[in-house]
Amino acid sequence: MAQLNDHFLDLKENYLFKEISRQVNEYVSAHPDCKLIKMGIGDVTQPLAPAVVTAMEKAAAEMGKKETFRGYEDSGQGYDFLREAVKGYYAKRGVELDCEEIFISDGAKSDSGNINDIFSEENTVLVTDPAYPVYVDSNTMGGKKILYADSTPENGFAAMPPEFPADLIYLCSPNNPTGSVYTKEQLEKWVEYALKNKAVIIFDAAYEAFITDPALPHSIFEIEGAKDCAIEISSLSKTAGFTGTRCGYTVIPSQLTFTASDGTAYSVRKIWARRQGSKFNGVSYPVQRAAEAVFTEEGLAQCRQTIKGYLDNAAIMAETFTKLGIEFTGGLNSPYIWFRCPNNMDSWAFFRKLLEEAEVVGTPGAGFGKNGEGWFRMTAFGSRENTAEAMQRLEKMLTT
Ligand SMILES: *Cc1c(COP(=O)(O)O)cnc(C)c1O
Repeated sequence: MAQLNDHFLDLKENYLFKEISRQVNEYVSAHPDCKLIKMGIGDVTQPLAPAVVTAMEKAAAEMGKKETFRGYEDSGQGYDFLREAVKGYYAKRGVELDCEEIFISDGAKSDSGNINDIFSEENTVLVTDPAYPVYVDSNTMGGKKILYADSTPENGFAAMPPEFPADLIYLCSPNNPTGSVYTKEQLEKWVEYALKNKAVIIFDAAYEAFITDPALPHSIFEIEGAKDCAIEISSLSKTAGFTGTRCGYTVIPSQLTFTASDGTAYSVRKIWARRQGSKFNGVSYPVQRAAEAVFTEEGLAQCRQTIKGYLDNAAIMAETFTKLGIEFTGGLNSPYIWFRCPNNMDSWAFFRKLLEEAEVVGTPGAGFGKNGEGWFRMTAFGSRENTAEAMQRLEKMLTT
């Protein structure tokens, strides 16, 4: 008799975005002429860079000719040309990698969810709260015990290591949903904690391209000792608008080992390669060529231009919140603004008020964890006009 994996029953209902769309649809049906501005979903809106499209078209044409057609990729870990490009991107920041340490993926969501496959069910998992829901959901499916490190107004919504130990640690910087970014000193504390506990940090760097402050680290591997305790997962989704194109990369240092129950140390990289070899067959060739183009000088310049547009939106938002005297994090080095709901409203009550009185949609902080209650997330991924208009409506709503 086929039986369900009971761990799937431990998952919480995927309530947040379902409930948002339910309430939005209800409002739109009752107000068919409304002019909604959506600042809730974390998806990009700007098209792919021209350099990326050209590369993808060229690769698609190669696939149509006998001489240049490609089938299965040999390694399944990504073509050398793309791994070299990723390696070069890291090298610019002084992080030296070997190509075999780089795994090309179809995005950061799948790898950040799948990576727990290779760790024991006995391991405890530390997640910062609030957090991107994938970390909790995937480890719940994996039957692991989840512990929380609190991100609060007191620490600028950038949780620091707790007193208790943990085995796997998920960090995301710049953070979704709070927009906070760890400094070098803060990441040094996390690396120290991981080394002390023989733990592994899974560092989600999906928003690293939004960092403009030269003092802030883009990669955990900018921190000394991190190659002995960290895996980095990143993606071109937010860097280059690949949310619908799908490509990311995961870095596992060769020197990173973990101990099996037999007491022997094994290479994490080799185990992950083995796992991917069995459960993943690589990213399509045209997409890998498109990703390669992101890392060219031309591609990087074009992507930077788009990101600047989003960051300018974030600056407009930050300016409005500052003017209104609303406490917030993010807005700098991040496409997210995370703010305290005015007048101590709970986050769903504020969601409702903003929808009904300003016709602006955001995301209630409570959906990202217990510390998100009373807080709210807005994204800078919209158009300039909509962002400015939404801020005007918000200001009007709160001052009249
Ligand atoms: C958007 C996002 C990603 C990227 O996911 P993809 O699967 O690469 O599209 C990863 N982590 C966080 C926290 C994100 O918000």
